[in-house]
Amino acid sequence: MAKHKTHYEDCDVLVVGGGMAGTGATFEARHWGRDKKIICVEKANIDRSGAVAQGLYAINCYMGMQWGENQPEDHVRYARNDLMGMVREDLGYDMARHVDSTVHMFDEWGLPMMKNEKTGRYLREGKWQIMIHGESYKPIVAEAAKKSADKIYNRIMITHLLMDEAQENRVGGAVGFNMRTGDFHVFRSKTVIVAAGGASHIFKPRAVGEGMGRTWYAPWSNGSAYALPIAVGAKMTQMENRIVLCRFKDGYGPVGAYFLHLKTYTQNANGENYEKKWYDQTKELVGEYIDHHPTPTCLRNHAFIQETIAGGGPIQMVTTEAFQDPHLETVGWENFLGMTVGQAVVWASQNIDPKYTNPELTTSEPYVMGSHATCSGAWVSGPEDLSPPEYFWGYNRMLTIDGLFGAGDTVGGSAHKFSSGSFTEGRLAAKAAVKYIEDKKAEDIKVSDKQCEDFKTAVFKPLETYTVAQNEITGGTVSPSYISPIQGLQRLQRIMDEYVGGIATNYMTNGNMLKRALELLAWLEEDLEKVGAEDLHQLMRAWELKHRALTSQCVTEHTMFREETRWPGYYYRGDHMKLDDENWHCLTVSRRDPKTGKFSLEKVPVYHIVDENEKKKAS
Ligand SMILES: Cc1cc2nc3c(=O)[nH]c(=O)nc-3n(C[C@H](O)[C@H](O)[C@H](O)COP(=O)(O)OP(=O)(O)OC[C@H]3O[C@@H](n4cnc5c(N)ncnc54)[C@H](O)[C@@H]3O)c2cc1C
Repeated sequence: MAKHKTHYEDCDVLVVGGGMAGTGATFEARHWGRDKKIICVEKANIDRSGAVAQGLYAINCYMGMQWGENQPEDHVRYARNDLMGMVREDLGYDMARHVDSTVHMFDEWGLPMMKNEKTGRYLREGKWQIMIHGESYKPIVAEAAKKSADKIYNRIMITHLLMDEAQENRVGGAVGFNMRTGDFHVFRSKTVIVAAGGASHIFKPRAVGEGMGRTWYAPWSNGSAYALPIAVGAKMTQMENRIVLCRFKDGYGPVGAYFLHLKTYTQNANGENYEKKWYDQTKELVGEYIDHHPTPTCLRNHAFIQETIAGGGPIQMVTTEAFQDPHLETVGWENFLGMTVGQAVVWASQNIDPKYTNPELTTSEPYVMGSHATCSGAWVSGPEDLSPPEYFWGYNRMLTIDGLFGAGDTVGGSAHKFSSGSFTEGRLAAKAAVKYIEDKKAEDIKVSDKQCEDFKTAVFKPLETYTVAQNEITGGTVSPSYISPIQGLQRLQRIMDEYVGGIATNYMTNGNMLKRALELLAWLEEDLEKVGAEDLHQLMRAWELKHRALTSQCVTEHTMFREETRWPGYYYRGDHMKLDDENWHCLTVSRRDPKTGKFSLEKVPVYHIVDENEKKKAS
């Protein structure tokens, strides 16, 4: 252990993850806390990290309130509809009322925004999306964070949260290791904002073997945002609500600009509008939700999946009409260049010119995230002026652990935040964190050397395990005494895929399969005590895997608890195929007891605040 030097840092606000939410939090923490010590710790390098690393072509959440385009209430209704009723409207409204100011800052900071030549307004792609030349999006927000923080630590993976030993249920900081130097880092902090992104690669991806890593969602997003709080007993919500994306096949290129701006549409292999064919069947499952406009994302997936099972595939995007217009053709290609270059490469390699060939679409493996068209994540307090008592405990975006805050993919219940909303939520969390400190809620935190030393031993254990167990390798990488991170990952992905509603079963699961998954996940957890790492990169892989495995347990527990199929197209409970508003029009909340490792789950009311308030005003 002596070879891993320990560094100590004491600070006021510690931001874990420098993606969209983390850069927003770091920036805003400085605004409210001029005298505060603010540290941001990032697993990669904040200039090119997180889901926005490669850039984006559209900012997907902008109200346009200055021009009367949309109001926050409209966005709440939109997100509520898309998530089949299950959102925290207080969180959604709070984000929506602040998101425009965030976008205006991006504009001031030099992000190239496309403008509508006739109106001078930001160019709309759809009702909520505005178009950008966004290759430089991430470096621009990173610069704001760099100018705001006392220090940015790159290449440090946070593995554990520290807990205060003087007061129960209060955070005390975090620890991690530098993946280049192998040093151990202890950050003792008055507040921690977890902004570590969502979780890819917990379900087996479609691309395996030589194609592994080709997923829609960033392959480096490993669920730390969930595992860190779950491990210390924070409550989580809606973890069953994984997302499945309809995207261009193999490259996972985005379809938003195609549907919204190019007005392309989908058809089955016979050139038929297959969505219509599945209307009656879908109505049987979800009732009037199928008549909502726009059609909820999961229900569009449902028609796609059913049509494919019925033999109507491959499903295609009809591009051959729109691409006859040279302007739209340019937009279609540029859409990939700022964001998913790989899709253009796939088409080139397969001789697909979308002007003459309608490209294939696919549905992805499931991912867990809290900021896209999905809302898994931590159960947090809302803002004091909006939240009903069940949703409010003092500080906006504070988890059920004192001093621990979340933003972006970390936060559950608030879908459709996207890049701008995640940055905004980081700002909201940071403002509340500074207030928490100024209210003297973070006095006399005690983090003993023993707590840090114990974590240090645990963090580097995979290196020790490998050093000893490599002597027993029987062939290749096979040893009776250790499991490698890739072996563990593939085992995890198979469990999730085959039992918890992955692509192997066309997203189908049931109570018995979930029970079996929990048994297998418990054994995996046991075996992960013996995960071995041959170098620092593999040590990172080992900890990513452990975080993914804990996140998966929580996902499985939640999926088992909700005895209905709320989001057909995201997953199906074969033993409860119908949406059941009578019993399940509610949010699900879990807590894992850190001492026993057992999860407990409860139903929490979902309040439809926006229209209820309007009804009250009218009466
Ligand atoms: C494929 C894809 C396409 C998208 N397209 C759009 C779009 O067109 N428009 C739009 O507005 N939004 C889009 N989004 C949504 C947007 O990217 C997310 O909403 C946003 O990035 C979420 O912010 P976040 O900070 O929670 O996560 P991220 O931005 O992913 O940041 C998480 C950060 O945490 C770091 N991290 C993770 N674990 C650790 C750890 N243990 N220790 C330290 N650091 C850690 C990561 O390296 C990363 O930098 C897209 C998302 C995806 C995945």
